[in-house]
Parts: sequence; C-alpha cells; structure tokens
Amino acid sequence: MSQEPQEERRALVVEDDDDVRALIEFTLSTQGFVVQAVDSGLAGIEAVRTFDPDLITLDVGLPGIDGIETCRRIREFADAYIIMITARDDEIDRLLGLETGADDYLSKPFSVRELKARVNALFRRPRRGVGAVASQQPVAVPDHEVLEHGRLRVDVDGRRAFNGTLELALTRTEFDLLAELMRTPARVWTREALLRSVWGTDWASDTHLVEVHIGNLRRKLEGDSGEGRHIRTVRGVGYRMESVDS
Ligand code: CA
Repeated sequence: MSQEPQEERRALVVEDDDDVRALIEFTLSTQGFVVQAVDSGLAGIEAVRTFDPDLITLDVGLPGIDGIETCRRIREFADAYIIMITARDDEIDRLLGLETGADDYLSKPFSVRELKARVNALFRRPRRGVGAVASQQPVAVPDHEVLEHGRLRVDVDGRRAFNGTLELALTRTEFDLLAELMRTPARVWTREALLRSVWGTDWASDTHLVEVHIGNLRRKLEGDSGEGRHIRTVRGVGYRMESVDS
C-alpha cells in the first residue's frame, strides 16, 4: 500500500494545566501535527466535532466532566486515537478496567521522548473506523488476516476476536496484544519485546503496562479466574500462547 503524500495530521490537546498543555502542544507540533488545545472536557468534545483530530491527548483530572466521561462521549462519534494522561500511576489499572475506549495511557510526569514514542507507535498501527461512524459507506473487505490458535480466532483486519463462538470485547490495545501473541504462538515473549512491538517503547519501567494488559486480557479470555490457560507465564522470561481446545 502506498503512503499518501504528507497528509495533514491534526491533534487535539485537552488539558487544564497550562504548563502541561503547552508542553504537549509544543511536542506534537514538532512531530508535524497541526495542534488545537482546550482546557475542559466539553470544549474538547466540541473541538472534536469542529476540528476532526486524528489524535487526542486527554487529561483525566479536568474541571467539569472528567477525562473518562469526555472519552466516552468522544468515542460515540469519533475514532481518533486517544491517549489518556493521568496524574497517578496506580490510576492506570482503574482506567484500563473502565474500557473508556482510550488507546494508550501516560502518567505524569512523562518525558517528551515517551510521549513522542507513544504517538509514533499508535500511528504505526492499522486503523479501522469505530461502529459509531455508521453513516460511512461500508468499505470493501480486503484479504483478511485471520489467526487461529486452539479455541481462539483473531480477524486482524476486521479487528474482531473470538473464543470459540463467543466474541470478545477487547480494547484496541488488548486486541493488538493478542494479535501479536497469536502471530507467533510458539514464541516466548519477554515483556520488553511486547512493549517494543505493541507500544513502540522499550523502557523497562513500562513493563507494568504489559502485565496489566495481559491480566485484563486473561480475564476476558477466561473469566475472573484469569489463571493463564491461554496465555502462559514463562517464569523469569515472559509469556507464550497455549493451545486450548476446550
Ligand atoms: Ca488536570
């Protein structure tokens, strides 16, 4: 597939802290984005309608409606990439459980380098419109990459995953993680390798992000037991897929 010649990319920054907003605005503009910045959730939702961004950074702690509710409302009509920014590290676990529809999470303080890497990683991923954008014509179905392993089946292009006949409700990141594991089911993945592959970073401190997502993915595959039948922990190394037939 050939790349469109230098199409304009737009980013929206929703952040009430002036310093952080200026930092993100500046960082994204150096990455070639046309940037708009607002300081509240409602202004953010309005800006998504009028500005139609490809990327949104969304602070969790906002005055008025918070970032989580803002994210939900944006997801009803837009499929831009969303990076949630939280002031608390431990909040990421809670956010992931809420299925806000965000694509990635960053905790403050973050480095400019980290923000850039996260953005680059998101834009390397294949994209597909959300169901909410229903007015668009259905696109022609390309050759589907379908991965199968035991009971699990992942339709990569359709971005749907199944356990037997049950369709799994995965976030974008959980889906990408599962697809990556299923592409090479015999491989033992280290957390660092998964970080590089799925998130595009390799800072060891982020391996917690992998563990949290693996935990969520296991719960969605196996219910609350989440004991790792499908995704095995290889002690001292990382993870690998197990073929589960029943
Ligand atoms: Ca804030």
